[in-house]
Amino acid sequence: MNYYSTRDKSLEVSAPYTIVNGISKEGGLFVPASLPDIRTKLSVFINMGYTELATEILSLFLEDFSKQEIEQMVKATYTSAAFKSSAITPIKRIAPDLYTLELFHGPTLAFKDIALQILPRLLTESLKKTKHEKQALILVATSGDTGKAALEGFAGVAGVKLVTFYPHGGVSDMQYRQMATQTGDNVDVIAVEGNFDDTQTGVKKIFGNKEQNEKVYELGYTFSSANSINWGRLLPQIVYYFSAYKQMIDARAISQGEPINVAVPTGNFGNILAAFYAKQMGLPIKKLICASNKNDVLVDFFNKHTYNAKRKFYKTISPSMDILVSSNLERLLFEATGRDDKRTLELMNQLSSEGKYSITEKEAELLSSFYSGYCNDEKTTKTIKNVWKKYGYLMDTHTAVAQYVYEKYIEATGDYTPAIIVSTASPYKFGKDVLSAIAGEESVKDLNEFEIADKLSQFTGTELPTQITKLKDAPIIHKTVCEKEKMFDEVINWLSK
Ligand SMILES: *Cc1c(COP(=O)(O)O)cnc(C)c1O
Repeated sequence: MNYYSTRDKSLEVSAPYTIVNGISKEGGLFVPASLPDIRTKLSVFINMGYTELATEILSLFLEDFSKQEIEQMVKATYTSAAFKSSAITPIKRIAPDLYTLELFHGPTLAFKDIALQILPRLLTESLKKTKHEKQALILVATSGDTGKAALEGFAGVAGVKLVTFYPHGGVSDMQYRQMATQTGDNVDVIAVEGNFDDTQTGVKKIFGNKEQNEKVYELGYTFSSANSINWGRLLPQIVYYFSAYKQMIDARAISQGEPINVAVPTGNFGNILAAFYAKQMGLPIKKLICASNKNDVLVDFFNKHTYNAKRKFYKTISPSMDILVSSNLERLLFEATGRDDKRTLELMNQLSSEGKYSITEKEAELLSSFYSGYCNDEKTTKTIKNVWKKYGYLMDTHTAVAQYVYEKYIEATGDYTPAIIVSTASPYKFGKDVLSAIAGEESVKDLNEFEIADKLSQFTGTELPTQITKLKDAPIIHKTVCEKEKMFDEVINWLSK
């Protein structure tokens, strides 16, 4: 299957090209030329385990790879050793007709592992297939979780270098620990003076700067991206929605063909876009519930059909969703406009020049499969506490945002279709906020992040993940902090070391 740029359909490229380049030259995002229809295959899919399912779904989109190649990559990636679960992405029943989809059992305890554990394999193969002579140089802008997941995925991978930028002081203590202790000669970690949007904009500027591209090319590299705009990031995420559906059938929550609702804690719009693609392919998803934190730019977009990034930026206790420019929304716009590249370009130009754009009533029709709402920090904390008390289930701050918005959805619609709350991080990754939510603010006083993790485990009787214990004695390796204007210089410094 070939891929288009959302801003120029005359550019048709192969899957390996999209994975190597991440973003199209004129700034557009790559989308499949068409979405495969799986309706007739669904009854086969729901009898498959995770790796079989992943092989089938990835094969539909990656024609340039043989099925054996895909199967090999998938089997090497999705092991029960790496994901501490044979289901890889297990569902858990928390109430009648309400399940969570736990995407956080990978090496970094966040859902980004699902894609970033396989991306290095996809990228290395894609470099071979596109006969690239340069090494890939990946720059990552992270609000916390992508950074560590990318570092963990790419450390030690030959032919690839990776630099992770994160907002200085804008990530959780545990996220900071995870990144700052990362080993591997081919990876680097840099804190940027600014918020996540500054960080992401900084990386985008470097990607779009001709001189800087030429400079790294001379040094023997070609830029690549591991952010969720890369098709190689999105594609593996489609798989777990099918897996969740299969598990819902196995759990007798639904029969084959019956619809489910999914609620997704959303930031850059990658995870929920994967759910949207699964729905478009024919997976019986009824509503896509898009949950934001106090940075509610998407809520206004879905409800008022205007995207306005010119608003106050809030730091919240669900930092991986602290985003004002949701990059992947461009792919939804492309679909909403009837795959109109000129119109998508026009809207994106408006966003960069005026900070906002509006879509027409007709264009908004596709948005009716979404419900959107937001949840502030206070409600997030209350939700963690309520869910713990009522169901004995421990949620992290991001998952709790989705749970809250799901409850609002029920209140608004009375739609009790069996539902999945997509659980994107381990509660241990945001231990301070989770413990203070259930045991009171006093409970975390004067404790460091590891003491908090221990206490959380004792208090709840839930298992402390080994991924946390391992970090405890790891030395801090990365200490660089740079101004947002100096990000490129830092990259060059590091490459020339
Ligand atoms: C990245 C992340 C999100 C947001 O996912 P998007 O694909 O960017 O919408 C939500 N929760 C957690 C824990 C994350 O790491």
